[in-house]
This record gives sequence, C-alpha cells and structure tokens, in this order.
Amino acid sequence: MNYAEVAVNSPGSRSTFSYAIPPGLNVDVGQAVWVPFGSRVIQGIVLQLSDEPSVEETKEIAGIVADSVLLSPIQTQLAQWISGYYFAPPFDALALMLPPGFERRAITYFQPTDSQVDLPLTPEQSQVLRVVREKRKASLPELEKVIGEREAKQITDQLLAFQLITKTLEAEKPKIMPKVVPYVRLIAGKGEIEPAKARLDKSRAYRQAQLLEFLTGRPQPVSIGELRKRLNCSLTTIKALESRHLVSVERLRIRRDPLSHLSLTTSPPPVLTPSQQVAWESIQEVIVKKARQPSKLPVFLLFGVTGSGKTEIYLQALAQVIAAGKRGICLIPEIALTQQTVERFAGRFPGRVAVLHSGLSLGEQFDEWQWIMSGNCDVVIGPRSALFAPLPDLGLIIIDEEHEWTYKQEDKSPRYHARDVAVKLAQLSGAIVVLASATPDIGSFHRAEQGEYQLVELKERITPRGYSPLPEVSVVDLREELKAGNTSLFSRSLLAAMKGTLAQGEQIVLFLNRRGTATFVRCRNCGFVFRCPRCSIALTYHSTEKRLICHRCRYSIPVSPSCPRCSRPCLRLLGIGTQRVEEETRHFFPGARLLRWDRDAITKRYTHEEVLTSFRDHKADVLIGTQMIAKGLDLPQVTLAGIINADTGLNFPDFRSSERTFQLLCQVAGRAGRGIKAGKVIIQTYSPDNYIIEAAAKHDYLGFYCKEIDYRRQYNYPPFSQLIRLVYSHADEESGHREAERVHRLVLGEKAKKGMIDFNVIGPVPTFAFRARGRYRWQLFLRGSDLTRMLSRLTLPRGWTIDVDPVGMV
Ligand code: ADP
Ligand code: ZN
Repeated sequence: MNYAEVAVNSPGSRSTFSYAIPPGLNVDVGQAVWVPFGSRVIQGIVLQLSDEPSVEETKEIAGIVADSVLLSPIQTQLAQWISGYYFAPPFDALALMLPPGFERRAITYFQPTDSQVDLPLTPEQSQVLRVVREKRKASLPELEKVIGEREAKQITDQLLAFQLITKTLEAEKPKIMPKVVPYVRLIAGKGEIEPAKARLDKSRAYRQAQLLEFLTGRPQPVSIGELRKRLNCSLTTIKALESRHLVSVERLRIRRDPLSHLSLTTSPPPVLTPSQQVAWESIQEVIVKKARQPSKLPVFLLFGVTGSGKTEIYLQALAQVIAAGKRGICLIPEIALTQQTVERFAGRFPGRVAVLHSGLSLGEQFDEWQWIMSGNCDVVIGPRSALFAPLPDLGLIIIDEEHEWTYKQEDKSPRYHARDVAVKLAQLSGAIVVLASATPDIGSFHRAEQGEYQLVELKERITPRGYSPLPEVSVVDLREELKAGNTSLFSRSLLAAMKGTLAQGEQIVLFLNRRGTATFVRCRNCGFVFRCPRCSIALTYHSTEKRLICHRCRYSIPVSPSCPRCSRPCLRLLGIGTQRVEEETRHFFPGARLLRWDRDAITKRYTHEEVLTSFRDHKADVLIGTQMIAKGLDLPQVTLAGIINADTGLNFPDFRSSERTFQLLCQVAGRAGRGIKAGKVIIQTYSPDNYIIEAAAKHDYLGFYCKEIDYRRQYNYPPFSQLIRLVYSHADEESGHREAERVHRLVLGEKAKKGMIDFNVIGPVPTFAFRARGRYRWQLFLRGSDLTRMLSRLTLPRGWTIDVDPVGMV
C-alpha cells in the first residue's frame, strides 16, 4: 500500500486526508504520524491504507510519532463510527482514545552546512544565517522571534535552496513521562555480607553497617525515599556502600497509583438473594455459554430500585468475565460522588482495578493508561470517557445509572452519548453491555420492551433488615399551606416530621431542584403557570426584555402584575436557593447541625468526599442540597427526605422535563430508609395531581413510563423520532438570527426536493442560555427519521455546532 488516509490534528477538519507513504517507512492503521498540513507539520492518525490516493496530488508523510501502533483496529473503527454518527471531525473522535499527554507539536530545527556563500545574500538572509551558525542549531520559533513569523519561513526556505542550512523535524518535549526514582539493591554475595559488616563496624561506619543490615534479606530493591524515611539514611552513606560494591543504585519506574490512599478491606462475594439469583442467571447464561442470538444486541437492562443489589450483580458479572480471561469497564455518572463504588470494586478485585478521570494528575492518568494497556488490570472504573480506556480483551461494559445525562458529552465535539457508543463498541468487540437504573431512560426501557435489549428485574430492596419496602411517601399540597397562612418553605407536615426525626437523633436530607428555577412564573394562590397557547410548554422568563417567551415557537407576552386565572397579585418568579432553605431550617431548628451541599459550597470550601464523609459520620443532622444529593449515595442513617418543591423541573420547556423530574424525585425518595430504620419521604408540590408526582410517590416507574411513552408517541418525540440540534452562535443577535433563518429555509428546501414527509424542523428559537460569553445562540431542531442522510447534504458554515440525539432541548 502506498497511500494512507490520515485524520489530522487540526481543529475542525471534517474529513481525512490522503498522504503518500515514503519508501522505506512502515506505516500501519492506528499509527500516529507527522504530516505536513498547510505550512506546518502536525500529528495525525492513520485510518486506512490504500493503493490509490483519494485526491490527485498528495504530500508525503513526514515521519512516525512512535514505532508501535497506538490504536487497535476496534478503536479506529469505533472512532470512525463516532465521527460519522455525530458529525464530528475524525481526529476529535480519535482523541478520546489517545494516551494522556499525547498531543504534541513538531518543531523545525535548522543547522548550518559546510557550504560557503558564493552569491550575495540580502541583509535578512545574512542575519538568519548568522544566527543559525552561532547557535549551531536554531529552532523556527527562535528565528521567528528574531525576524518575524512570515520572514523566518521565507528566508529559511531560501537558505535551504542555497544549501546553506539543513532542516530537521523534532517533536516537542513530551508533556508527561514515566516516573522513575532511585532504588538501592543489595548486590553483595551471601558470603561477603558478614565480613563486610565486621569491617564497617571496625572502622566505625555504623550507618553503613545499619543500612547493610536493613537490606540483607530484602531481595527487592528499596527506594531511597523509603530508606530516608525508615533509617534516616543519607545519600553519602548509600554512595559509600556503593563504592564498596556492596549495593547498587538503580532508577526504577514506579506507578503513580490514584488508589494508593485507600485502606481497602477485601470483601468476599455474598450469597445472592433469590431475586438476585434469578436476575444473575439470565446474564450469566449469556456470558458463559455465549448463548447469543445474532439478531439481538448483547445488551441487558438491569432495572431495580436503589438498594436492590445491582452493584452486587456487576461484581459477579465482572468476576465471571475475568474467570473467562476477559476484562470489564464500569461507567459511573460522576467520579466525585462514587468513592464508595470505587472502594467496593477495589475491595473485591484487590490490585486489579484502575480508575480514569480528569481529577487525576496527568502523571496518574498516564500511568493508569499504560497499566490498563499492559493488561495487568481487570477492571476500569470512571465517567463516560473511561469507555475509551485501552483495555485488552474487553468482555463487559457496565453503565451504572444509565439514565444520567452526564453520559452525554454536550460541551465539546464529539457530542457522543456513552450508552450508544458502548453498544457500538460491544458489537465491534464481542463484549456484552449491562445498563442499570432504578428509573431507566425512557428510550432504553422502550428498547427493552421492543425486545432489542433484554430486561432483567430486581424488585426488592436489600437492607440490613433483609428485604424492606420502599420508604413511605406523602405528598403535600403547597396551595393549602398558603391558604392556611403558612408562607414558609416548609409545610406543616414537613416541619412536624423534621422535628420528630431530629428528636430521635436521626438524619434528614432536604432536596431542592434548582434546574429551571427563576425561569417560569407561577401564581402562588392557584398554582397557575403561564404556558404557550400553541405549544403548551411553560413560557420562559427573559429578564432583559421582561417578557415571557416560548422556547419552541417564540410566542411572547409581557409579564402581568396579577394572575390571569384568579386575578390575585400572587405571581412569583420561581427562585429558591439552598441558602434560603438553610436559613429557614436554622430559624425553625436553631440547635440542628446543618450542612449545605451545592456547587458553591463544594468549590469554595469542601470536596464532595469531605461533605459526604462528615455527613455519614453524623457530624451534621440535616443535609441540604441540589441534584447531587439525588445521585447514588448510600446514607444509611437518613430516615427523612424532604423535597422542598417538586414542581420546578416540571415546567421546564423541554419534552424530557417530566422524565427528568420523575428520575430526580425517585432518586431522592430512595435515599431514605437504607439503614436499620424505615424511612419517610415528603414531597411538597403545587400540583399534587400531576401524574409525575403521583407516580413518583408510589415508586411506580411502569405507571410513569406508560403515560410518558404515550405522550412521546403522540407528539413524535424520541424514541419515536430522532432529534438533531443545530446551534448557531454569533456576536451579533440579528446576524445570528438571519443565518439561522437561512439554514431553516435550506433544510425546508431540501425536504421538499426529496419529498421527505416524516421530518420537520423546530425553530429557529433562542437557546436557554441565549447570550453566553458575549455570543447569541440560536437553535434549530430537526426531527424525524434518517436525519443523518439529510444532514450530510448540508454544508454548514463556521459557527454552527451539531448535536445528534441531544439530551435537552433548552
Ligand atoms: P444497588 O446497586 O441496587 O443500589 P447494592 O448492590 O449497593 O444495590 O446493594 C444494596 C445493599 O445490600 C448494599 O449494602 C449491599 O452490600 C447489600 N447487598 C447486596 N447484595 C447482597 C446479598 N446478596 N447479600 C447481602 N447483602 C447484599
Ligand atoms: Zn409556543
């Protein structure tokens, strides 16, 4: 093969480029290479080899970055799928899989030749030649500093043509290197040690004798750091023993281990409960017998309430896969919140668990990566990006809390969803996937219902009391509180329950759904919410214009002083913060110890772990927090969970807002009563008959699902259609709007030309964060089937981003 298709590391390059392979250079698919690109030389990854180039004129590959192939065939195939499906530059997709610290620049160096000048040089040429000769080796950036960017390039080209200088290309210094530290090893033979000790004692070299004594009987070398700590031993002492040829000092590579601080207790697997056993057998059958139907995806949906023993199933499945000579990846929504999970895994598979996430130092990331690639660990745990760990022999991918939105990368390209990529990766590698949740994503449950995924259920909770019912949930109508003259955040029943719980010395969590607060307007008297008469979603308050705007169709009205339904002047912008909850709690319970857990508190004062640990150690009585509280935490001493206001999420202008709210309510409700005592949950709401609140109060996922899936079907939302979100951002509001309208017309024109019926466009509408970082953002949604084909025919100018299967619409 004489040509290579290369994905180049140049921002926004949507396609690969053809390069000729120079004679004598060995290049393979998955290899990192240096390629000329414009006036620079940059890194690229070879994706294909061919006999013919895809274009007429090609440049040559300039060199290889490393001898060995960097990415496996499965990885390069996966990257190509991601790039195609999510409309992302191929290099962006590949970058997910590259080792930490991979990205480097190439630096051009110039060296003088022995040739003499036999023609007159310009003053600039003379100047550059002088610098190169003085330095013996000068880099292009150095010359640019002397004479200017454009000139440096021109003049060095001229001097090269005169053969007065030569050019070499070198990679910039690596950002991160393996860590090596000095070790001391005993090399003296058995017979030499005693006489040597005697000699040392005699010459009063007691420290040397002590060190020799310490090393005797230690076949493994000991690091100098440890010798310093243990023996307070100085370098001089070591050097002295070295010069006597009794020990040698060598530099050894060490692994920067992010889990080294954990004090692990190894835990043998428990005997499965009968219902776990049933669930486990259906998964085990597929792992062991490979009894796979080719028509079916190798995907399980493990549906079970919090505390039903799902994690135990993951551990069993991993053990089984490992016994079969394979390995597994377990994705968790957010590493900061899952220290417990990591400890549980590391305790079950001691020394065989790697973690990968952005909170690690670059050195730790680098070492974990190498360790994973070497095949010396069996399990990788981490957030969505851990899916791309270079784990050989992948047999199992687990996605814990699969409904979580953090599995979708929204803020940068490629905007992938780890769940869908995991299913693709499983197909490519022959692995199986276990998706797990107490409140599965509507789309996932639908797939299971359709038989695409295999549904496995765990119905009961396991607690130290054995099986236990879910906590008792009561719903409080906040309108009644107001009528009774109670204007505080807490209803009378919540106050009473808090009082009782504190009197018992038990713990409380108070949950506030912050998402979407202060964005819609509601009447505190009758519960009325302004909605769009055309689209029926809640109108969003825009403070700059003082208007309520529909984010679907741009219908808008000014904010009126009184409620259109009951005429009372009770309209209120919704915005309650955790701070206010804290103040009111303090007011009612001055003696209670409070702990606030939100983004502000975390970044300013504590880490997630510190807050959690101190609450678990009962250093506080009440934990007040937002979304984070809802995540899978084990808080056994909590017996009361209060949801301050369940409605906030309901009125978010997004077809997924019901699903989202239901998931949050169920998760908070699941927090109470995980320990010895049964728990109680109080949901406060202005809309007690809303089906979402009703279903959440009964822990009735299926009831919710049936209503929700009907709604999705009726309005043709996913999973019955596909959505693609196109966002255009521009510094000028009107230009942004014009461009968005232009693309809207373009799409409609394309639709008419191809006669596509099952397809429509929503927008253009402003995004929820309309003005972000000085730019206005407009969005269009394409909805229908086969959108990929449609979209691949459009060429969108700079400024557009494409989000395939967006998790939100605002
Ligand atoms: P989930 O992942 O569904 O929240 P876990 O696997 O964490 O559930 O289980 C809940 C609790 O029950 C944990 O404390 C766990 O140690 C315990 N547990 C799970 N399976 C068993 C079992 N078979 N026998 C005894 N305890 C179990
Ligand atoms: Zn509308």
